[in-house]
Amino acid sequence: MSELLEGVALSRFTTIGTGGPARLFARPGSLAELRELLRRAEGEGLAVETIGLGSNVLVADEGIDALVLRLGGELAAVSVEGEMLSAGGGATNATCLHRARAAGLRGLEFASAIPGTVGGGVCMNAGAYGSDFAAVLAEATIVSGAETLRLTPAELELAYRHSGLVPGQVVAEVRFRLAPGDPQAAKAEVAELLARRKASQPTTKRTFGSVFKNPPGGAGAGELIEHCGLKGFRVGGALISMRHANFIENAGGATSADALALMAEARRRVWERFGLALEHEVRFLGPIDLAPL
Ligand SMILES: Cc1cc2nc3c(=O)[nH]c(=O)nc-3n(C[C@H](O)[C@H](O)[C@H](O)COP(=O)(O)OP(=O)(O)OC[C@H]3O[C@@H](n4cnc5c(N)ncnc54)[C@H](O)[C@@H]3O)c2cc1C
Repeated sequence: MSELLEGVALSRFTTIGTGGPARLFARPGSLAELRELLRRAEGEGLAVETIGLGSNVLVADEGIDALVLRLGGELAAVSVEGEMLSAGGGATNATCLHRARAAGLRGLEFASAIPGTVGGGVCMNAGAYGSDFAAVLAEATIVSGAETLRLTPAELELAYRHSGLVPGQVVAEVRFRLAPGDPQAAKAEVAELLARRKASQPTTKRTFGSVFKNPPGGAGAGELIEHCGLKGFRVGGALISMRHANFIENAGGATSADALALMAEARRRVWERFGLALEHEVRFLGPIDLAPL
């Protein structure tokens, strides 16, 4: 049984480096452990949240009144059989890509610059450069207190940075359907995508990736925020990136409240200037929300 820890600071587990403690924290390493923890939480009426690499979450500074899970061990393992790659929900995109390339399989190159786990990728339907999880996912095994489901992308309701998953539903395993391809060509594609990424985004700073979803059609969220003159705008230790205005950087000592205040300001200004209500892409964990426009 995995150890239940009290008051673990979640700032250690988010890429922006902010966030308060979890009431309880555990790292299940197998399906049996995961099921046991979920049953226990259900029995005690405790909410459950799962985090991957924390690369698209903003955790409340006061913490989360929940059991927070981070998958490891067998739940982060990767294996390949024919053209199917199976990965535990806690496996990183980087590990999957590496294993796929070693097996001469292609299809995951788009995820090379997405610093997350496959569980987080399914939950967010993460994507880049014209592809996303929905395009390569065969099925995902979803475990909750009561049941285990094997769901296809359509059943998961995957759409642009969206899934129908709710807290307490854990992506325990993912099966990708890939295609045979030249490993050298895959390597070259990844190098090109990473170079493009480096040239346009603050890849060396502490951020949580895209703050807002791009509104349908027209200008992206970053362009809209930039037009409002907010590049470099700062609240406390958080600032809107000079490199890409849809990123918030932790410039030193930032809190989640600082980042949230920047988000509220960007959203208000874009609303006033363009009449567009930006929807946040980053997931909020704990008692945290944006003020209504
Ligand atoms: C520099 C940078 C660049 C980025 N570029 C991109 C990009 O190009 N495209 C893109 O889509 N995203 C991008 N992101 C955002 C982020 O990397 C993705 O959304 C990623 O898929 C999140 O994975 P994660 O494991 O870190 O999930 P987390 O951030 O830990 O969690 C995100 C959500 O998924 C849920 N979750 C996590 N694991 C599980 C699980 N096993 N079961 C159920 N729910 C789970 C969490 O509860 C939360 O709601 C970027 C982030 C950074 C920091």
